[in-house]
Amino acid sequence: MPPSRPRRSGPVRAEFALIKLLQAQVRRSDPQVIRGIGDDTAVIRTSASEWTLMTTDLLADGVHFDPATSSFEDIGYRAAIANLSDIAAMGGTPRFMLVAIAIPPTGSTNQIQRLYRGMMQAVRPYRVSLIGGDTSASTQGLFVSITLTGTVKPHRVLLRSGAQVGDHLYVTGTLGDSHAGLGLLRTPAGRGSNTLRPTHARFLLRRHHRPSARIAEGQWLIRHGLSGAAIDLSDGLTGDLTHLCEESRVGAELFPAALPLSPACRAYATSRGLDAVDIALQGGEDYELLFTVPAAQQGRFERLAACTDFRFTCIGRITSRRSGLRLRTEQGTTHPLVVTSYEHFLRPC
Ligand code: ADP
Ligand code: MG
Repeated sequence: MPPSRPRRSGPVRAEFALIKLLQAQVRRSDPQVIRGIGDDTAVIRTSASEWTLMTTDLLADGVHFDPATSSFEDIGYRAAIANLSDIAAMGGTPRFMLVAIAIPPTGSTNQIQRLYRGMMQAVRPYRVSLIGGDTSASTQGLFVSITLTGTVKPHRVLLRSGAQVGDHLYVTGTLGDSHAGLGLLRTPAGRGSNTLRPTHARFLLRRHHRPSARIAEGQWLIRHGLSGAAIDLSDGLTGDLTHLCEESRVGAELFPAALPLSPACRAYATSRGLDAVDIALQGGEDYELLFTVPAAQQGRFERLAACTDFRFTCIGRITSRRSGLRLRTEQGTTHPLVVTSYEHFLRPC
């Protein structure tokens, strides 16, 4: 056989195209792997009474955080929440954590201890045990990678692939707050943020630095068998909705007027001359859950939800794959949805 022509290889430009390529390269079936690449966590059949969830997230200096505007406690806290949120999206219970760090020449022991303080604060309510990790030097800023395991009962797991045409789309909490908080950090006070009340600014900064993982909500959905599919919102609503729809092979309509916005996010948008709905559609790192409720379950869902403290908002519905992703206005007209999710590898061509 003639030697195969070397493949053209250049800089990485699209995170998800790369993941698909890697998925095809390593494809292999292991009967214990129920879900491998493609969901918020992997799902492994570890025993007859319990399945194991595994997830890992890497945060890099200058990409996911800026030590000039985030404390080390906040960086650790957010690194833990990114992982907890993936377990939440599966309806799981978090269990064990491994932490790998690469420390730049400027890093100090005190900074790393503060990083761990924030991390442990985030996982403490769930009694997660830190059981190991790895430590390296870095020439290019701080890297923090957390691997988290969790558990679910067999078959009681929320997958991205379970959405069906006619399902209602719901979201927890409010959208866009973290992005607005980031906007406040990036534009120094006095340039555009004058009109924002300090209480609103504090709320948005807290939502950015100290987001919540919706563990209780995910477990509640599983316990009552109310949801067909779920994903957590790390990249932004439009991007993560795209992932859910691709995995379920469906389309979706979003109702922009229904998107849950906090008063602080609305005030931020006004103070900057921005559209709050755009922030909710595109802003990342809210760590809310986006999930589907089958039409036949919606009445029961609403009745049960009314007895909880959870905030759930119906923001759209699942349509056929052929219809793609659309926005439906209050007047009933539809427009294609512009998908803008965080893309790691965008760089000038
Ligand atoms: P999330 O935003 O929920 O953390 P990602 O978008 O990071 O999920 O990843 C999507 C899927 O691709 C997940 O199943 C994840 O495990 C997998 N994945 C991401 N990066 C890699 C990689 N470098 N190698 C193998 N699998 C990966
Ligand atoms: Mg996720």
